Amino acid sequence: MSQVGTLYIVSAPSGAGKSSLINALLAEKKDWQAQVSISHTTRQARVGEVDGEHYYFVSTENFKKLIAENAFFEWAEVFGNYYGTSRIAIEEALAKGVDVLLDIDWQGARQVRNMMPDAKGIFILPPSRTELEARLNKRGQDSKEIITKRMNQAQAEMSHYDEYDYLIINDDFDSASKELSAIMKARRNEQAKQAIKYQTTIKELLA
Ligand code: 5GP
Repeated sequence: MSQVGTLYIVSAPSGAGKSSLINALLAEKKDWQAQVSISHTTRQARVGEVDGEHYYFVSTENFKKLIAENAFFEWAEVFGNYYGTSRIAIEEALAKGVDVLLDIDWQGARQVRNMMPDAKGIFILPPSRTELEARLNKRGQDSKEIITKRMNQAQAEMSHYDEYDYLIINDDFDSASKELSAIMKARRNEQAKQAIKYQTTIKELLA
């Protein structure tokens, strides 16, 4: 019998490197499966973003319809747009033993924690305010006005770091990446989870 997957809530201010860390984790060779949940959003796609890959881009009208249909596990309004996590995909993956990462904000994190106390929260912080601003500028996808707005929003998001189980400071990318992987690996080695996966072995050892 395989382990049930763990639900991870991964939050960070824009520019902390959250997406790159998640992508590195997914690309890493490992002996377990992990996937990231693709959210629905009403915001415009940025250059290079693909519908169905980065997000499902939907109209506000459609988003509200999905809320009414109870299709979302959680949803929130972030920076004036709606974002939501679809329920079915994550429930199916977890049942199959796949770890699921939710790249969501602190508001969504609170909702998920209430519904699923077993979910683990990971918060990613940049090493400094200066570095965060530099990273936001380098991305070059947003206007100066939006960057200033996001710096303010970043501070608001970061103030919720203490609601999470794990904290990763993304200064050196490789180190941060290893930390993320180690957190997930340790969770899979918890006694209660291993006892399910290796029940035959344990039975044989104790016979
Ligand atoms: P961005 O527009 O930069 O892709 O994301 C903006 C913020 O929305 C980020 O903090 C991101 O984590 C959050 N976000 C993305 N998808 C979801 C979601 O499905 N639910 C919630 N609550 N937040 C989300």
